[in-house]
Amino acid sequence: MIDYLIVGQGLAGTLLGYQLIRRNRSILIIDEYDENSSSNVAAGLFNPITGKRFVKTWLADVIFPYLHEFYPELEEFLDEKFFFKKEIYRPFKNIEEQNDWTSKSGDTAYTNFIKNIYQTSQFEDVHDPYGGVEIGNGGVIHLSKLISAGRKKFFDDKILINEKFDDQNLRILDSSIRYKNIQARRIVFCMGHQNARKGFFSWLPFRPVKGEILYLKPFHPFDKIFNKGCFVTPPVDGTCRCGSTYDWRDSSCSPTEKARKEIMEKFEKLFKIDAEILDQKAGIRPATLDRRPFIGIHPEYESVGIFNGLGTKGVSLAPYFSDQFVGYLENSSNLDEEVDIKRYYSLYYNSVRHR
Ligand SMILES: Cc1cc2nc3c(=O)[nH]c(=O)nc-3n(C[C@H](O)[C@H](O)[C@H](O)COP(=O)(O)OP(=O)(O)OC[C@H]3O[C@@H](n4cnc5c(N)ncnc54)[C@H](O)[C@@H]3O)c2cc1C
Repeated sequence: MIDYLIVGQGLAGTLLGYQLIRRNRSILIIDEYDENSSSNVAAGLFNPITGKRFVKTWLADVIFPYLHEFYPELEEFLDEKFFFKKEIYRPFKNIEEQNDWTSKSGDTAYTNFIKNIYQTSQFEDVHDPYGGVEIGNGGVIHLSKLISAGRKKFFDDKILINEKFDDQNLRILDSSIRYKNIQARRIVFCMGHQNARKGFFSWLPFRPVKGEILYLKPFHPFDKIFNKGCFVTPPVDGTCRCGSTYDWRDSSCSPTEKARKEIMEKFEKLFKIDAEILDQKAGIRPATLDRRPFIGIHPEYESVGIFNGLGTKGVSLAPYFSDQFVGYLENSSNLDEEVDIKRYYSLYYNSVRHR
């Protein structure tokens, strides 16, 4: 019998698997490779100051120090380079924003994240007439590289099976599970947006959102991420990533002309120069109604768990919460109430009552 069977090897499954291996637990992963998975498509940014209101992201003081230690360790374990620390330059929209940020720079809550405030334009090719703020502690993870390196390592170690998981073959026993000929103490679902469609956790209020990004031919000798309306990364893999869009209605992974236009319009508001589009990709983010991850144990089956709902910020959230979840599974720490799926157990009991 193994300790954990993990379903899905996106960012969630890879990091959970690694955290378990670090604690000497035996694992097996079942994953049907999908080049359009959210992790394979994602831009991979981690940015402590985000959103339209441009404020410090949830738990930034805890999750950012954690991720800066975590990813270099994971690089070593997987023998691959995918972690790139980069400053993030965000031009100010107007004088008010410039004033706001000048006063914020004295606020101790922001000192770890603000590197510089500029009150005049810094880049000839960028629309930044009011200057901008340079944010530290951010960067880019080359996620598809991380996933491929994880895939290779797990295959080499004979702990990854490339196939589609099918609920029909799963049996829940007293204090373990059986899947075909595999017996495990627990099964943990890390299937991204696919968990919303059917299975043990489809009662959770997922709110999957399609996203598209463009891959641009390097067009400028910069080494920062630019972010206003859209983001543009420096060429970490020979292309600059630019995006992204949010579409809650389209559930396909097909790139669209509409998204391409939307991103390029935003690009033109940020940069004064042209860029050539080399590729365009689309994927579905496993986002949730309350914008918090879905982590925990099934209300009825102690041996069935989920690590999901990483939404738009998987790169920042997954390192810290995969660690916390493993501590919880192994009875050595608690799970943050804001991520614990216990907050939605009533939805499950209602769904059972109406069956
Ligand atoms: C366009 C775009 C841009 C993004 N940019 C960023 C960003 O800059 N920063 C950031 O932090 N996040 C970003 N994200 C979000 C990020 O991708 C997610 O938070 C994260 O990657 C989700 O990982 P996951 O492992 O939960 O899901 P997934 O990556 O979807 O992985 C799920 C895995 O499960 C497998 N699977 C599913 N069903 C089955 C089955 N039945 N049998 C076997 N295997 C199965 C899939 O094949 C896949 O490998 C972006 C997403 C998109 C789409």
